[in-house]
Order: sequence, then structure tokens, then C-alpha cells
Amino acid sequence: MAAIEVDHLPVVDVHIHPFLNRGAVSVEEFTDLSAFGGGDRGYMEEGGIAWTDDVRAEIQRGKRNTLYFTRMVIDLARFFDVEPTLDAVLSARNAAVEADYSGYVARLYADAGLKTLVCDFGIPLPMLDIAEVRSELPVEVVPIFRIEPLIADLLKTDIGWPEFRRRYDDAIAAALTTQGFCGVKSIIAYRTGLDVSPLSRTPDQGYKALDAIRRGLGGGSMKQLRDHLLCRALELCMEHDAPMQIHTGMGDFEVNLVMCRPAYLMDLLRFPAYRACRVLLVHTGYPYHREAAYMANVLPRVWCDLSEGIPFAGNAAWDIVRGVAAMAPLTKICYGSDGFKVPEIAYTSAKLGKQAVASVLGELVDDGMLTGLHAAEAARSILSGNARELYRLS
Ligand SMILES: [Zn+2]
Repeated sequence: MAAIEVDHLPVVDVHIHPFLNRGAVSVEEFTDLSAFGGGDRGYMEEGGIAWTDDVRAEIQRGKRNTLYFTRMVIDLARFFDVEPTLDAVLSARNAAVEADYSGYVARLYADAGLKTLVCDFGIPLPMLDIAEVRSELPVEVVPIFRIEPLIADLLKTDIGWPEFRRRYDDAIAAALTTQGFCGVKSIIAYRTGLDVSPLSRTPDQGYKALDAIRRGLGGGSMKQLRDHLLCRALELCMEHDAPMQIHTGMGDFEVNLVMCRPAYLMDLLRFPAYRACRVLLVHTGYPYHREAAYMANVLPRVWCDLSEGIPFAGNAAWDIVRGVAAMAPLTKICYGSDGFKVPEIAYTSAKLGKQAVASVLGELVDDGMLTGLHAAEAARSILSGNARELYRLS
């Protein structure tokens, strides 16, 4: 197969959640912190039942036996030059963290070429302090503002629609101007689904929906309010020339795995009023990634983000890159991880992402779809260049 050199290439991780040093951790803690879906503690934080010890052990065993997790152990074993067992890796890791956390992360990220993290500060809550995260992480941190915590805060008040709308607009405008956020994010797929009508933009809809919610009426008023506020967020992004991230496809266990399909966004994103907004389809809608790739092809300002499928769907990394590259312009595909809580997720994801990108581009050269030169350029674009363009990073 044609060899595409990627080891030396810089990486922008276009979707990740910020984290702080947690010090040394046990095997159980590391499993909880780094496993996809958040381990068993993730369920409990969301109000789930408290697990008995044997159920807990069963969940942990399952998490440790996913391809994603075994790959992370292997990558870290190579990095530390120890046996590829969780115990060996974790004791090397804990020693490195305790000796010098930032120095450890610097060596880890240098090994993968990770230079920039585009961080969704909407998770964890309460929001981490941006300056504190920057002081610990030896890479560029680009903050993204999530609208759902803002909506939740506004719903806790008893203000009427004009004030609600004013505070919503002001908070997003302030985030994008004075507070240093470089984009906006929505997880409406987790809440009321992606089937958002572009006609939700009429101010009437926001007024009526909030009024119905305040009077305790159901009837889909929460969906009408969220749909309206998503439209407004797109408008604010265009006003401030910032990109909008919309979660699509897989996510934590509470995602609606039907209403998260990117195709549900077609009506909204092809509507003339929104076509000019730069929109990143987070997770490229995996497992519906081919839908997202189609949308990036036919809609001028829709981009795909490979995160979460890479690394959490293990060897699907190849299928994701292949499926997305089939239709999306190679200039509109961005690498990402959706890492969280500990630095190791972004590390193993960048290693896996580079490997999958290199091998799929190599196949495309062999198949006569790309020249070697095109492939080398595409690798650089997918791993960092496209994200730098999308977020206007220098
Ligand atoms: Zn995420």
C-alpha cells in the first residue's frame, strides 16, 4: 500500500472536553474516567440506580474489554515501554502524573503531535475555569460555548420572553466577543432531537413556547423553545462569524439514537437563512456518518468531525474515514476525539486517527482516486489544516 507519512504531522483535536489533573488513580477509577459512556458512575450521576458491587464489576469488565480500551492500553504501554497490561501502564502513568503532570502531558501529546484542543466547556459542569485549564495543558486551548447550560439557567428563572431572549442573545454575544469563546455548540440531539424546522425562527414561536412552559403546559412546548433557540444561535454565529457545532449521532447512553441522525438537519441547514453559517456536524453522525458526509458535499458550509467514533468505536476508525471521505470534500473533514476527564483519551485517539487517515488515504492512492501528493495534502488538512480554517486559528 502507498505509504502516507503522518507521524510528523501536527494534530488539532476539534472536539474534546476540558479536564484538570486528578493525580494518581486506581484501576477502577481510571476505567470510570476513561471509558466510553462514563463508566458506571456516569449512569449514577444522571440519577440512575446505585449499582451493587457485582454489577459494578461486570460493567467495568465490559468497559475494559472494548477495542477502544485495549488499544489505549497498548498505546500507553509503548509510550512508557512497559508490558501491555492495565496494571503496568497505570503504575507508570501514576508515577509520571505525580512527578510532573504538565510535563507528562507535554511528552504524551508531543508523541502524538497533538498541538491544539478545541474544548467544549459545557461538560463538565460547573464549567471549569479556562485559565486554569490553560495553565495545566501544554497545548493551545480553544474554548467553545455550549447553549444548553445557558438554557437550563434561564428556565430556572421566572422571567418572561423579552427578557429571556435578551439574556440568551447577550450571553452568546459576550461569549463570542469578550470571553474568548471561538464557537457555539448545541446538544439538542440529546434533548428534543434534530428535526428542527427552519420556520422555528419566528419570534412568535419562542414567545408562545416559553409562555406554555411557564404555565405548565406540555404539548411539545419545550421542543418548540429549543428549536427556536437553536435557530437563534445559528443567527448569532453568523453575526459574529463563528462556527456552530451540532452534536449528531452517537453519544452517552441517554442520547436519542434515532432522532440524532444528521439527515434530520437537512431542512434547517439548506434553508436560505442558515446556509451561510459554518456548521460542524460533531461525531459526523456516526453510525450515520455517510449522511453527514453527503451533507458536507451538497451544503456549502457543512463540515464533518470524526470525533467519538474515533476512538470509541475501535477499528471502525477505518470505516469512518473511508465512509466520510467518499462524499465529503477532503477540505471539510476534521479530526477530533471527544476525549474527557483524563489526557490519555486524546492521546490514543490521535494515534488511532493518524493511523486510520494514513491507511485509508494510502488505499485511495492505490485505487487511483488520489495522487500521492493529494493524499499527503489531505492528511495534513484532515489532521489540522481544515480545523484551523474552520476556527480561523492562526
Ligand atoms: Zn463531546
